[in-house]
Amino acid sequence: ATTDTGAPTIFDKIIAKEIPSTIVYEDDKVLAFRDINPEAPVHVLVIPKFRDGLTQLGKAEARHWDILGELLYAAKIVAEKEGILDGFRVVINSGPAACQSVYHLHLHLLGGRQMKWPPG
Ligand code: 5GP
Repeated sequence: ATTDTGAPTIFDKIIAKEIPSTIVYEDDKVLAFRDINPEAPVHVLVIPKFRDGLTQLGKAEARHWDILGELLYAAKIVAEKEGILDGFRVVINSGPAACQSVYHLHLHLLGGRQMKWPPG
């Protein structure tokens, strides 16, 4: 498992467009792009453009309230654009025990197939 060192991550390079990604939604605060290793027909990562200490949900502070709402609402917009509003899943892995690998808060939007519950 990767640990949270607070160092910049690959997502900064994706935001800066130094590394290519397939962007599906972008506004001034939020970027959404396809996961490079998709676990479902639709697998999009929704991230804040300014990490502002938000390496993981477990580090959220009151100042992050607005961006947390923006991310969740952006997930709904992307779900609509991707045609999966009938059923989709949003996942946030926070910390090593949850298998977080990139320490720039991101929400996984998954859909396009029947999902199982509970997750592993
Ligand atoms: P985590 O395990 O931290 O919740 O999720 C990180 C996700 O980022 C993984 O699903 C992984 O496939 C994805 N990922 C890692 N590096 C890249 C990259 O360079 N480009 C894209 N599009 N996705 C990435």
